[in-house]
Order: sequence, then structure tokens, then C-alpha cells
Amino acid sequence: MVIVFKPGAPAESKAKMKANLERQGFQINEINGVNMTIFGIIGDTSALDMNMLRIDDAVEKVMRVQEPFKRANRAFHPADSVINVSGVPIGGKKIQVIAGPCSVESQEQVTDVAKSVKLGGATLMRGGAFKPRTSPYSFQGLKELGLDYLKAAREETGLPIVTEIMSADKIERFVEDVDLIQVGARNMQNFELLKELGKTNKPILLKRGLSATIEEWIMSAEYIMAGGNENVILCERGIRTFEHYTRNTLDLSAIPAAKKLSHLPVIVDPSHAAGMWWMVEPLAKAAIAVGADGLLIEVHNNPECALCDGAQSLKPERFARLMGELKGIARIVGREM
Ligand code: PEP
Ligand code: MN
Repeated sequence: MVIVFKPGAPAESKAKMKANLERQGFQINEINGVNMTIFGIIGDTSALDMNMLRIDDAVEKVMRVQEPFKRANRAFHPADSVINVSGVPIGGKKIQVIAGPCSVESQEQVTDVAKSVKLGGATLMRGGAFKPRTSPYSFQGLKELGLDYLKAAREETGLPIVTEIMSADKIERFVEDVDLIQVGARNMQNFELLKELGKTNKPILLKRGLSATIEEWIMSAEYIMAGGNENVILCERGIRTFEHYTRNTLDLSAIPAAKKLSHLPVIVDPSHAAGMWWMVEPLAKAAIAVGADGLLIEVHNNPECALCDGAQSLKPERFARLMGELKGIARIVGREM
């Protein structure tokens, strides 16, 4: 971290700041120019509050030269992390695809869709049992019964289960029943939930918040990792912008950015980004082209009657066709599918 003092800042202010920082265990590298003084702070500054330093009237600006995250930082872990989700490696050469309905609606529905996405080439299945809906009057999910249906679908297909957790009181059940626990966009900064998930060793799929910066997203991964759980997979799912044509705006640049900053795998959810089924295909292709390690795609056997997100859900035949086309893109960028 670097502190730049205002021209002519009083010597007492600088001395006080220096003593204060040294008391906290930092070393100060002081550079004195003709008008200005700069402090280079040496030590672990991740817990240092930049805004507290800015309060001082003698300070012109305070800048970080290193990211505030450590465990998630590629600088401390240059190799890509590969997360093992019940035998399916995410983050390696092979691109993994999670597919299934937005919500678990019945045993028949989730098993049917799981079987067809498996035929199409998906290596994990999804389905929401606890649904974070904008309206309290919308379908809220089948909850524990939904988890039971997912488990039965896993039994039939062998596909690992990905499903969303909304509160810490359900962690024990999720650890028992689920292969990859999803933290949804709306809970990306539910820090108490993240801390509790950090105490488990289950793989966590961390979606990017609706209005979260890339740094805030990785800091949320850091919360989980700081507790000891390093099994985190990032998921870009579109962010809020001024554009209303699409449900969200898929931030394709977040994929190379997150992969440069962090060693964690990054997957992309084009379904929630677009909100429209016909846009899922081109966005999925683009995601692989820019380096995504996997995809999360909503598939429904009867989208017209879906209880949630039917408009963005692919029918199984379309999903299978898309998977065939994605193989070509994967090959071009040196990946396998
Ligand atoms: C979901 O995956 O069903 C979901 C609700 O996603 P998000 O948290 O990205 O909106
Ligand atoms: Mn959905």
C-alpha cells in the first residue's frame, strides 16, 4: 500500500502516521520528493482500512498495490486450481457442463431432465429446491422434498447434484445430500453464510452478485477460503447494467479478469444472464471462447409450463445440439468437452 501526502504536509502529521503504522508492525519505506512525501507500507496490509488513513488531512491519496485477497490470489498460487466435485474435476482441461431445470418441480420432471441432459453430455445436474424469488408470492421451491427428488435423480443417472443454499441452518443437510453447493447471486455477500460454508469441505459454486465488482466477488470467495474451505468455483451470471433488453448483461470480460486475478475455476451461466433461451447458445459459445472452465445451463422438458425461468430454459433437444457445437469451440481454444 502506498500513501501520498499533500504538498507541504506538516512533518508532525507524517511522523505521527509513521509511528502509528510501525506500532501495527509495518515497515515504512519513505520517499521524499521536492514537494511531496510518499510512504510505501511493507507488510500484510490486507486488514488495513484505507479509509481510516484517508481521514488524515495531510494525506492526498492512498493506493493499494496488491489485491486485498490472498488465498484466492493467483500471485500466491500460480497454477489453476482443479476442484473435485464427487469425481468430476472442474478447472482442468475438460470443460464441464451443469444442466437442469431452474426449480425441482416433481420427481418425474427432475429425473426426466437429468436423464436427457446426461444423454446430451452434461456431467453434473442442477435444480433449485430452495428458490430466492423476488416476489414472496412466487413459487418458493419444494425445499427438503426437492432435495429428496434430486437425490433420487442422482441415483438414476449418477450425475452429481448442484443446488442452491439460502441459509446457514441448512448446511448440515446440504453437506450430507449435495455434491456442489451453490451460493446464489443474491447471497454472494451473505458473509455469515459464507463463513459457515468455509467451515465445511464441500465444493461451493459462488455466483457473482447482481451488482458486485470482480474484486468484491473474489473477496466473497476469500471469506469461504479463509475458513479453510479452498474448494470454491466462481460463476459469472450477468450483472445489472442500464440495458433492459436482456435480463442481465453477461460480463464476458470478467472471465479472463477473474482467471488472471485468481487461480479458482470460473464457469459461466448464460441462462440467467440472458433471460431468453435463444440467446443462451451464442453466449455459451462466447463463454468457452474467452476461457470459461464450464457452463451452467437451464434445461426444462416443458419450458412453457415451468414454475420458474421457463423463458430462458432450453429444451433437451436444443441442449444436446448446443453441446455438439460447443465441442468445436472448445477444441479451437485447446480445451476438451
Ligand atoms: C439459479 O441458478 O437458479 C439462480 C437463482 O441464479 P442466480 O443466483 O444467478 O440468480
Ligand atoms: Mn433460474
